[in-house]
Amino acid sequence: RGHISVRDVDIVFETTTGPHAAVKNANLTVRPGEFICLLGPSGCGKSTLMNSIAGFVPPTSGEVTIDGDLVTEPGPDRGMVFQQHSLFPWKTVKENVAFGPLMAGVGQNEATSVARTFLSLVGLAAFENAYPNTLSGGMQQRVGIARALANYPSVLLMDEPFGALDAQTRVMMQENLLEIWSEFRNTVVFVTHDIDEAVFLSDRIVVMSASPGRIIADINVKLPRPRE
Ligand code: ADP
Ligand code: ADP
Repeated sequence: RGHISVRDVDIVFETTTGPHAAVKNANLTVRPGEFICLLGPSGCGKSTLMNSIAGFVPPTSGEVTIDGDLVTEPGPDRGMVFQQHSLFPWKTVKENVAFGPLMAGVGQNEATSVARTFLSLVGLAAFENAYPNTLSGGMQQRVGIARALANYPSVLLMDEPFGALDAQTRVMMQENLLEIWSEFRNTVVFVTHDIDEAVFLSDRIVVMSASPGRIIADINVKLPRPRE
């Protein structure tokens, strides 16, 4: 599970100055368990394309399917991590992570147990009763990752998740993410404008370019990872 298919997708936004093509003729297949980076300069349509996979932005034409099902809205098969973590500040870390499973109809005890499992996975078991604003930025992003995984999504969509972190924390988080993924092996689409980050994280990099946002390259890079 976790097969993403983007077929002939155009995304046009209506703006006050007229229609604005954010994504043009995108075609992309991501196989189950593949980890790809979507790389390109700011404004080239990476987030828009990812949001069409998430179900937040409908394609103007073309279609997005996951495991053969047409994507028309967000669903628990897709976990999302954003640059801004968007945790609920009034909930503890554990409650934040348990929220998705609870919404999906999982019972309170089971949801708490799932939350603990994923908090352990991101190294925050000891902080389950803390409130998000008492944690560092990196820790908050790790809670965000735990929350995104708590519904056992077949697809994990990450939009510059480490973009707001300092360089040292970012490297730690990249390593942590690869450890988590090697255990989880779900499909990952990771949006970044940082080529070093893309090369470190993934062997497959899909490159976009602006005006209008097009996929201009889909490359396999098998480099020795400098930090391994
Ligand atoms: P990236 O993620 O690569 O930085 P985006 O997907 O955010 O790029 O944006 C692509 C283009 O679409 C940009 O020109 C941006 O200004 C425009 N855009 C994004 N979202 C909207 C929107 N909701 N309405 C109008 N224009 C938008
Ligand atoms: P109350 O907020 O009065 O406790 P609710 O049924 O509105 O009752 O909320 C139940 C739980 O969900 C509480 O922990 C509350 O803080 C939290 N909550 C309230 N609104 C939202 C929301 N929009 N999204 C997520 N959690 C919410």
